[in-house]
Amino acid sequence: MKDDKRSVAERLARPGLLNLKPYSSARDEFQGEGSVWLDANESPFGLRYKGIPGLNRYPDPLQSQLKEELSKRYRVPVHSIFAGNGSDEIIDLMIRAFCTPGRDTVIIMPPTYGMYEVQARIHDLNVAEVPLTEQFLPDEEAIGEAAAAAVAAGRPAKILFICSPNNPTGNITPNETIASIAATFDGIVMVDEAYIDFSGSDGALSLTERYDNIMVIRTFSKARGMAGARLGIGFSNREITDLLNRIKLPYNVNSLTIDAGLRALETEEATLQQIELIVEERERISGELGKISGISKVWPSAANFLLVSVEEPLKLYRHLLERGIVIRDRSKVRGCEGTLRITVGTPPQNDLLLEAIADYFSPSGSAQPAFSAGTTETVQRRTAETDIYVRFTPLGRGIGDIETGVGFLDHMLELLAFHSGSNIMIRGNGDLHIDAHHLVEDVALTLGAAIGQAVKNKPLERYGFTLPMDESLATVAVDISGRPVLVFDVAFRDAMIGDMPAEMVEHFFLSLATAARCTINIAASGQNDHHIAEAVFKAFGRALKMALQPSGGDRVASSKGVI
Ligand code: PMP
Repeated sequence: MKDDKRSVAERLARPGLLNLKPYSSARDEFQGEGSVWLDANESPFGLRYKGIPGLNRYPDPLQSQLKEELSKRYRVPVHSIFAGNGSDEIIDLMIRAFCTPGRDTVIIMPPTYGMYEVQARIHDLNVAEVPLTEQFLPDEEAIGEAAAAAVAAGRPAKILFICSPNNPTGNITPNETIASIAATFDGIVMVDEAYIDFSGSDGALSLTERYDNIMVIRTFSKARGMAGARLGIGFSNREITDLLNRIKLPYNVNSLTIDAGLRALETEEATLQQIELIVEERERISGELGKISGISKVWPSAANFLLVSVEEPLKLYRHLLERGIVIRDRSKVRGCEGTLRITVGTPPQNDLLLEAIADYFSPSGSAQPAFSAGTTETVQRRTAETDIYVRFTPLGRGIGDIETGVGFLDHMLELLAFHSGSNIMIRGNGDLHIDAHHLVEDVALTLGAAIGQAVKNKPLERYGFTLPMDESLATVAVDISGRPVLVFDVAFRDAMIGDMPAEMVEHFFLSLATAARCTINIAASGQNDHHIAEAVFKAFGRALKMALQPSGGDRVASSKGVI
């Protein structure tokens, strides 16, 4: 009954939980200052992980410091905040807190995020589906009917999920609609705002002050780029957060995640810039996709993804997969028939996507007979020191998508991609805590292997380029000769260029020549190490572009007939 004066927890929580005596951890029982901690059977020996000390100690079960910061950031009281192991945990805990297994009902509004139903079924609940309208908005009348039917069947609806922006449709539910549902629904309204940061809207947070039956959940997994750390936040009132604190596992958010969450809040500026870029890119690719006649609809989105309707979604899905581009097939989701969901990536990733989609709908044919359209070589190289992944598409669009962990190398390789006209994607991880040597070398070996694979026995041109960069001048000749040789006539002034040792430029090209089995001859001079290196990478890119050109016939460019 909506006019029931009891608190929301007394009205709606699972009866047994109100009197549940929660587990009391050592950290619950003593939180003051101490210097000799012998209360929690922890190891006295601290493990320091990536600079974070104190992993031998249990984390703060209530994540007080994180909540203090969240409280300042969102201007809500600390007691209204709950932190979970991802927002998925909060969905699960809310179901545990309010729904009696085997009896109660949960209302979901398909098409929507799949976990609501899965969690409800795990708890053996009745799931009432009230499909969204054609505009993907809640159907308030149908919600009222479903809630009444659930009560009549003795299986009252305890939770209703509103996903806003909705996954997978991307649209927002206006606050007036949410308020109107909360005012009439005699249960908890869970407003899942995982994607709200991309929407330009403040969302439903302010409604939690007016309605005691609303919980808003947000996540650090999306805009804040912390999906691997698992941090979700629930905003509601003290009754509800108290209830969740009673039933959660004692240490549901670990110390590394708490630390990462605090750092994310400190570096909010960077996040905001990333959000801005993602939103710009969303609009750009939405516009570009809209121009492709094979795409019948690009749904408007307030999130970091786009839902697109196409004639044969699975075919396009597979076409993209062949190019290593993974999107989400939503065509089997009721209400989303014929659709694919595309997450917005970095500008180069989006370029690759657009290029591959355009190619699917109007294949350009192979402009370069030496490479069949979309020829791409991928090489993964894992050692105890590094893990490198390279995708190399010769004579693509010159798109570099490079993350090696060495900023200067990334910069050089992006230039290389651009000037070689080849698409190069590199992901590198390695023992940078030692120095950049292994990583730079292994990136070169892996890239070289990919280039070597791409050019093997292809009828290609071979040769070189000279290029100035301000006061510097670099001449690079490349011969896809089958013979690994490097001649490197370059002197740098300083030991380091940015975060990379200068000597690694030579070693990079030696490793690349070795793995690609090609001859590279480099001479460069100048006054500024950055410029010299840049000229070398650019000239190498140009020389490589020339060398990759098809030679016109079907014979390799050697009088011997083999390379
Ligand atoms: N809600 C929605 C709408 C989502 O799409 C997702 C994840 N895809 C989640 C919640 C779960 O997020 P988390 O990583 O915080 O568990």
